[in-house]
Amino acid sequence: MSGRILVVDDIATSRMVLRAKLAAAYYDVIQAENGSEAIKSALKYQPDVILLDVMMPDMDGFETCKILKSDPKTNHIPVVMITSVCQPADRLRGLECGADDFLTKPIDDLALFARVRNLLRSKFMLDELRLRDRTTQELGLAEFITHDKDIVPPKARVTLIPSDYEMGLLWEKALSENTPYLYKICENDTQPQEFEAQELPDVYVIHARIGAHGDGLRLVSMLRSRPRTRNAAIILVVSDGDHATAAKGLDLGASDYIFDHFDPLELVARLSSQIKRKQISDRLRSNVTDTLRLAVLDPLTGLYNRRYAEQHLGRIAERAQETGKEYALMLLDIDNFKRVNDTHGHVSGDAVLKEFSRRIQENLRGVDLVSRLGGEEFLVAMPETSEEQARLASERLRQVIEDTVFQCSPNQGGLRITVSIGVTLGDPLTLDVDKLISQADHALYASKSEGRNMVTLFNSAA
Ligand code: GH3
Ligand code: MG
Ligand code: MG
Repeated sequence: MSGRILVVDDIATSRMVLRAKLAAAYYDVIQAENGSEAIKSALKYQPDVILLDVMMPDMDGFETCKILKSDPKTNHIPVVMITSVCQPADRLRGLECGADDFLTKPIDDLALFARVRNLLRSKFMLDELRLRDRTTQELGLAEFITHDKDIVPPKARVTLIPSDYEMGLLWEKALSENTPYLYKICENDTQPQEFEAQELPDVYVIHARIGAHGDGLRLVSMLRSRPRTRNAAIILVVSDGDHATAAKGLDLGASDYIFDHFDPLELVARLSSQIKRKQISDRLRSNVTDTLRLAVLDPLTGLYNRRYAEQHLGRIAERAQETGKEYALMLLDIDNFKRVNDTHGHVSGDAVLKEFSRRIQENLRGVDLVSRLGGEEFLVAMPETSEEQARLASERLRQVIEDTVFQCSPNQGGLRITVSIGVTLGDPLTLDVDKLISQADHALYASKSEGRNMVTLFNSAA
């Protein structure tokens, strides 16, 4: 995953060291040598992560961070503070200024890259939600959003999964003295299904050393992979200095980590910042998925409709122009669908459309937009996607449709369904979305005329 990183340090050699490490891993690195330059650069270049030195003359890292986090144009950019000696008090102060994490000089590569990857992943997800939110605003549908400023959001829920119950009681006591959240201690042998059945918390705090599921890391990855628990924040507690486990936890999807034995106030600060972030993404998500359902979703399949998709594609093209990264567009059309209706009836046809939509959505990334253009025709827009990735993804979709028969009613055999797909790549230099759709349409037509159940890339169709 590539991304743009702003490195801020008053000492040139420190900047160079970081720049070299990050550039070697193909990150796009920009630099600033003091706080005010950092703020200017952040506004101008919109980096995806900021690595910020704490000790700088004039404006120090804390102050810089505070300014970045108070401006709506930069407050969504994650900030990692870099300190020479990491005092707990410094960390607390940093968290209060809105910092997302800390690294201590000399910088441990494992910790650096794990943190950067993790922050990029969550930032891209949030960027995408923001983009969707903007799309709905621009469709003139903002008035449908039922934001009642007077409604007090429900109390945040936190589930604690300590390595033993005693530890859980200690955590709960320290946390509830300092926060208004609702806590629940979970036995560490709780079964995965039980987590899904429970009332969902906003945050899980998980000790890396828990007994039953092998370890806390396994639990992190399990919670991340299940749709119901996927959007919760996770804070992993690891033994002091165990950077390897912390790094692995971040890669598996933990939102943050803290070293044991921690200052309870540090956990309070980290918890609060996770809850704040979660509330923002929940709100963005519900703006689109709940309130505007009728205006932008197709009632049969629950996918976005054509109107929404076209608008959103325009946003993706604009963003590609900013980032310079390619994106992909797919058109899918079910083969010989009329025969399904004719042979098995319209109700079975509808069931096929629903199951088809489900499979497509399940086999794409969260940032990909799937929409039903009408009838048995679908569009998939994939931001930041290369030709190779687009080809692999469309081939995967073709297969998940072909490989398993569609079961439309219990007293009927399964139906064999296939799909034809046309794919094209969006050039970041142009905003001509109509042209792109017609290219994908050409490619789709080629798939149909070459015998159906096939993927065609626009270039090769030309
Ligand atoms: P091709 O492989 O060339 O795409 O053939 P096809 O039969 O899939 O294409 P055609 O466009 O001839 O037929 C599409 C059919 O889809 C016709 C229409 O009755 C059916 N259809 C469109 N919307 C719906 C729907 O919402 N539900 C059902 N059950 N059928 C639909
Ligand atoms: Mg068709
Ligand atoms: Mg058709």
